[in-house]
Amino acid sequence: TDPVSYVRNAIRSVPGWPKPGVTFRDITPVLQDPQSFRVLVDLFVYRYMRQRLDLVVGIDARGFILGSVLAYELNLGFVPVRKKGKLPYQTLAEDYTLEYGNATVEMHADAVKPGQRVLLIDDLIATGGTMLAAAKLLQRLGANVVEAAAIIDLPELGGSTSLKATGLPVFSVCSFS
Ligand code: 5GP
Repeated sequence: TDPVSYVRNAIRSVPGWPKPGVTFRDITPVLQDPQSFRVLVDLFVYRYMRQRLDLVVGIDARGFILGSVLAYELNLGFVPVRKKGKLPYQTLAEDYTLEYGNATVEMHADAVKPGQRVLLIDDLIATGGTMLAAAKLLQRLGANVVEAAAIIDLPELGGSTSLKATGLPVFSVCSFS
């Protein structure tokens, strides 16, 4: 099979989690299997190895796993975007809405310099709210978000479409409906 199908086939779908009517797309089997983890990382390495990037920014928490491996492989630094209250130094915060209630992501104020070319990465794009909030933090610091990338897109939730509508390039390895 081709690399994309190899990764996609390793993703586990868990019906009824975290609540009835929702199917969670679980990437832990991809990470657990050394071949599919390597194919996944190499897909991203191949995509970004010729881009002049300065940093990989990963989103709490599954974005840290792929993002840090990718940063290491591409010889780039890694910056975490975290959920509220986790970062010790001076932070910038961005609020966004979830299906029920609100959430906040934070980044260190000195994590990115103006003009730096940044790859933003998470495991999955659903409504796109998390990715958009992270992109806003980066843009407030003057960064150039070269691409917002994820393993999985859920296109029916409209997140990737609305991210693209803001002018942000978006990439995902595969999608589920
Ligand atoms: P969004 O902000 O786009 O609505 O939701 C995306 C965020 O929620 C990501 O940080 C992602 O980790 C998490 N998420 C939501 N649904 C799923 C899912 O089905 N599988 C995984 N792995 N993460 C999910």
